[in-house]
Amino acid sequence: MTERSGKCLCGAIRYTLKGAPRAITACHCSHCQKQSGSVFSLNLVMRDTDFEVTGETRVFVDTGDSGDPVMRHFCGTCGAPIYATIAAAPGKIVLKAGTLDDLAGLRPQTEIYTEHAVAWLEPIAGTKRYPRHI
Ligand SMILES: [Zn+2]
Ligand SMILES: [Zn+2]
Repeated sequence: MTERSGKCLCGAIRYTLKGAPRAITACHCSHCQKQSGSVFSLNLVMRDTDFEVTGETRVFVDTGDSGDPVMRHFCGTCGAPIYATIAAAPGKIVLKAGTLDDLAGLRPQTEIYTEHAVAWLEPIAGTKRYPRHI
């Protein structure tokens, strides 16, 4: 695939993706809602070896559903959430797709934590839906 690039709102944090996403999921969990300020987050699960970031992110150590730490990386200048690493999923990063420069060709295959989804939002066509995680 062609490389994709992305950045935060102010441009201090930039990244490139060197490979295809392993999964694309819309996450409706309350943490994604809080962090994004929106009602769900579109997340790309990437191999960490396919992800190159420049600029220094700040990190908030969150606690995931499993009780394991989730390191949420964001831009300390503009506050944009960029990616997370999950202690329970070594070798992977979870990228906030809204930070990509171009979202063409990317659509979710799954929706997770639909038990937290807002009632007015229709299921995304073609996705498998899970009340919590997969
Ligand atoms: Zn920024
Ligand atoms: Zn989530």
